[in-house]
Amino acid sequence: MDTIQIHDKSFGIFLEEEKIISRVKELAQAISIDFAGTQPLFIAVLNGSFIFAADIMKSISFPCEIQFVKVSSYHGAQSSGKVQQVLGLNQNIKGRKVIIIEDIIDSGLTIDFLRTDLLKQEPESISICSLLLKPKALKVKIDVQYIGFEVENHFLVGYGLDYDGLGRNLRHLYRVIE
Ligand code: 5GP
Ligand code: MG
Repeated sequence: MDTIQIHDKSFGIFLEEEKIISRVKELAQAISIDFAGTQPLFIAVLNGSFIFAADIMKSISFPCEIQFVKVSSYHGAQSSGKVQQVLGLNQNIKGRKVIIIEDIIDSGLTIDFLRTDLLKQEPESISICSLLLKPKALKVKIDVQYIGFEVENHFLVGYGLDYDGLGRNLRHLYRVIE
């Protein structure tokens, strides 16, 4: 069996590379129909989306740009819980059509924060493209225009996604074996 071990956990194949790539091409095709001729700006969320973003870009054949951001969370001085900030965006997005590229939406809090933060710069529009979405884990309502696969609440690694730093280089997506 194609079982792999990362740190203390075992993982089994969940989606093979071939299936992922063919779905990524469909997403790129849908984006092409909606955005051709508008020179959109892709904003990819590091680290997890780097492979997905690269594969999407390779299937886009009209002029477009890409920027990379990180959404970092840290605990503030007060006990108010999680504070988030967007790092790395060095381009004004006012009036631009923005497409956020994310690896996976779980609670939805990260993408909701990023979207709200980007809206302050008054882009013309913001669309969201996520390879994976866990509908049952969502804690906020969020409109996702392009979704690769809806998945159950299992922990996944591979194709850019990591488990404690490892696994991003795996070509397939793997699911934890509980
Ligand atoms: P959210 O703010 O939507 O709860 O969290 C999204 C982030 O959590 C993702 O960008 C990713 O970094 C991480 N995440 C959520 N689910 C998974 C998963 O199944 N596997 C991995 N590797 N990361 C996940
Ligand atoms: Mg991510």
